[in-house]
Amino acid sequence: MSPQAFSTLFLFAVAVTLLVKLTLMVRQFRHVRAHRDRVPSPFAETISADAHRKAADYTCARMRLAMTDVLAGAIFAVALTCGGLLLAIHHGLGKLLEAGSLAHGVALLAALGILSWLVELPFSLYRTFVIEKRFGFNRMTAALYAADAAREAALAAIIGLPVLAAVLWLMRAMGANWWLWVWLFWLAFNLLALFIWPTFIAPLFNKFTPLADETLKTRVENLLTRCGFRSRGLFVMDGSRRSAHGNAYFTGFGAAKRIVFFDTLLDKLSVEEVEAVLAHELGHFHHRHIWKRLAVLAAMTLTMLWLLGWLMTQPWFFAGLGVAPDAADTATALALFAIALPFFTFPVGPLMSHWSRVHEFQADAYAARQTRADDLAHALVKLYRDNASTLTPDPLYSQFFDSHPPAALRLARLLQTQ
Ligand SMILES: [Zn+2]
Repeated sequence: MSPQAFSTLFLFAVAVTLLVKLTLMVRQFRHVRAHRDRVPSPFAETISADAHRKAADYTCARMRLAMTDVLAGAIFAVALTCGGLLLAIHHGLGKLLEAGSLAHGVALLAALGILSWLVELPFSLYRTFVIEKRFGFNRMTAALYAADAAREAALAAIIGLPVLAAVLWLMRAMGANWWLWVWLFWLAFNLLALFIWPTFIAPLFNKFTPLADETLKTRVENLLTRCGFRSRGLFVMDGSRRSAHGNAYFTGFGAAKRIVFFDTLLDKLSVEEVEAVLAHELGHFHHRHIWKRLAVLAAMTLTMLWLLGWLMTQPWFFAGLGVAPDAADTATALALFAIALPFFTFPVGPLMSHWSRVHEFQADAYAARQTRADDLAHALVKLYRDNASTLTPDPLYSQFFDSHPPAALRLARLLQTQ
């Protein structure tokens, strides 16, 4: 392939991705706005007209920001590649560090990370301090936002930089089969992260206190025994420090497994409803959804690394993405691959969303068997209402992007199982 042909192919992929995503987002925006004034019939008794309008306005505000974000991301990717920005950074860092050295490579990838963070920053600030605030969800102060950013930067430096250095070293030292070694390293790192995240990283950002409510504790422990599930404790997380959105989740695996409730969830739901939500989460564990996802992710990563191994030997890959031969090294290849890949793999997104929705239905069905379908249905309606999630998504948008089935479908399926 010639560099020009690959450039054209890349720009075509960017244009198609952008066109498809923006079209779907505009559809979602219009669909939600068109259904703003009428609560859909299954929810007519449980959701007020005001709450429904708020959900529509919230969804539209987020959609408008997401469209700008998608556009900015595409412009940034083209600027880095065809615009020559990555090449300029490579040359700039070459004045400080020996070009092609390990230190130069790590610095290049770190610079790319910082730049991406800066591009994303205004969107994150606007989301938190304008949209979330306007709809009454934000509890974050500017000081807490800055403290979070500082902690994330420190973590990225302490963990991220050595990981990048190790990957670049493996890519150079392990010969033609480096991709297999990097994959094994990636796998080991991910498993390790699953172990250390709940006990070492998450407490840096939130406070976890053992669940104190005795009634709930007894019910939850009974449910766990019934489902044959063992965990290393039930915790309540101070999610209300940052946001009014509620949630429950599991972290870790094996002996490090723990169940975490957001305090905001416990405030909103009755004991029976919390139990049903937890049973849904147990359903994900029962069906081994986490392991299945991890296995698919591992297979995809292996394929991608193998592909990168081949692309790195092709001069058109570098030249087509705006990098001159003198800058065509392992770090640049990794950077270009990370920038360009999402535009070629975006059709995978709807497949993954579909798979995720299948899992949600399975978890709901499990919860309906272990607790009462009614309780889960009530809990979901409350969560949709309190999180201002739209009840009327555009069907096509939802099929493409949504990891959870639309509210009406989920409830209809649940109430059928009764
Ligand atoms: Zn779920």
